[in-house]
Amino acid sequence: LIAFLLYLFYLVAPIGQLVEGAVQLQNGLAALKRIREIEDLPGEPDGQAVAVGQAGGDPVGLRFEDVVFRYGEDRAAVHDGVSFEVPPGGLTALVGPSGAGKSTVFALIERFYEHQEGLITVGGVDIRDWPLADLRAALGYVEQDAPVLAGTLRENLLFAAPEATEEDLRGALTRTRLDDLVARLPEGLETPVGHRGVLLSGGERQRVAIARALLRKPRLLLLDEATSQLDAVNELRLREVIAEVATETTVLVIAHRLSTVTNADRIVVMESGGVRAVGTHAELVGSDDLYRELAATQFLVS
Ligand code: ATP
Repeated sequence: LIAFLLYLFYLVAPIGQLVEGAVQLQNGLAALKRIREIEDLPGEPDGQAVAVGQAGGDPVGLRFEDVVFRYGEDRAAVHDGVSFEVPPGGLTALVGPSGAGKSTVFALIERFYEHQEGLITVGGVDIRDWPLADLRAALGYVEQDAPVLAGTLRENLLFAAPEATEEDLRGALTRTRLDDLVARLPEGLETPVGHRGVLLSGGERQRVAIARALLRKPRLLLLDEATSQLDAVNELRLREVIAEVATETTVLVIAHRLSTVTNADRIVVMESGGVRAVGTHAELVGSDDLYRELAATQFLVS
């Protein structure tokens, strides 16, 4: 194509136009190169990544190895050599002071941003080698303040997994302890919720978001725990749900509740863009000053 364009220019363009054309061509080539670079980003699926993508519902582990990330070239590093490992299955909690880089861990796993140095693997495979659609399909993400959309509860649950069966739906409702909510609603699953519908409490909204994520059968669930104050029943429900979900898939939770960290199989303590300590609640309370302080001040009691 380039040779053909040059040939055309030589044939028809007067000298002035030729120079102008050459400049445009150069600009065009630079743009083409940039597009190629962008296209190269997700990488061609290698054999291993495809195998991971097709392996069905087994939980996958996660590893950060010396990850360095800054939000802009001239910005300070938010992650400055972050390393930790999450084995497949079970509950891992991420804790740390505000600004330590916990949410950024989620953003990098989802590949909303590209880390500059180091390695992140999901299921043992470099996330840059996962086809992006497969990676995102393998991940579930539950936001801190998950939105409830206008529409019925059923629509809210199914919009991300329209192919889910009635049995899948019932299973997700049971696992998230939402069956009693459904029983209480005037029209059950067909009750309009959210704006102009029945308002759900913070705890119920988060359980709806977990059920919605479970319907997509995630192999690694990223959960940013609700910070809203919950009544005792909702608190207990959320704790049970997180514990149960962690028996079927890998759960990495940004934890705000004491009950979540005490239940976690391991806790990763982040501070100023690095990992300060890893352990169970009992171990960390005994060994880490910052963790003790967080446990006393930051975690919501109960
Ligand atoms: P918190 O507990 O308050 O949510 P955190 O530990 O989750 O904090 P991050 O949200 O990962 O921390 O933020 C780490 C640092 O990166 C902060 O200094 C924050 O201001 C900055 N940051 C986060 N998101 C962006 C962004 N999109 N663009 C630029 N800087 C950002």
